[in-house]
Amino acid sequence: MPEGDVVRLTATRLDEALTGREIVRSELRWPSAAEHDLVGRTVTSVAPYGKHLLVRFDDGWSLHTHLRMEGEWHVARTGTSSARAAGPTVRVVLANSWWTAIGVRIGMLHVLRTTDEHRIVGPLGPDVLADDFPEHGVREAVERLLADDAAGGLGPRHRPERVATGVPLAEALLDQHTVAGLGTIWTAEPLHALKIWPWTPVREVPDLADVLLTARRLMQHSVQHGFARRSGYARHVHGREGRACHRCGTPVEVGRANEPPYDRPIFYCPACQRPPA
Ligand SMILES: [Zn+2]
Repeated sequence: MPEGDVVRLTATRLDEALTGREIVRSELRWPSAAEHDLVGRTVTSVAPYGKHLLVRFDDGWSLHTHLRMEGEWHVARTGTSSARAAGPTVRVVLANSWWTAIGVRIGMLHVLRTTDEHRIVGPLGPDVLADDFPEHGVREAVERLLADDAAGGLGPRHRPERVATGVPLAEALLDQHTVAGLGTIWTAEPLHALKIWPWTPVREVPDLADVLLTARRLMQHSVQHGFARRSGYARHVHGREGRACHRCGTPVEVGRANEPPYDRPIFYCPACQRPPA
């Protein structure tokens, strides 16, 4: 699943291709949005928020998309064969005279007023890659992680018996309502970097801000160096089950965060990342 770093790179690419230009072709192959025609509107910005992407238009409307499991956006030169976007997995086509942006296997799509964007991103935690995260977001994210832990998990993850024991850190980090943008890669890697057992109860983690800022730093590195997700670049545990930990040589293991059917794999080193005593 694409995480915040991939969404940010995607937003940058779409921003370069679309912003300031008028839409000349618009296709929303999505049942609840098919009647919207975006032709004639000019894109004013393309903004990422966690794993969400917002394309804003000059008439006060926005296109919201989420890549979910395997969505992606391509940009092709308008008029070329790759800009035809004829495939059955294409969900969105937005073209100006120069560039055609094609959304493939998109997992979520809404057309809404820009002033209503809060309905989608409002409930989410602070975006870990937002410019003001170190000054403001991190404090709010720590508060949200602690509130989630104190409640035994919020929303569908709530389990009363965990009020006394706390919520595993990896599970809380993956919930976009505590902090937005982390998936399984950028949950596993900072915990390995800081030698934290992924199932440590949130309340027992000595420095939650350090965890969040380490995740942010690793993700920024990925943004600067392209798609870490594809290349495996800069990964020390994620996707490396059975291979030697880059720090100590112990074979990397994989466990599960969250309960089925929402459980996700979390890779870790059983020697570097031990449960608290
Ligand atoms: Zn190790």
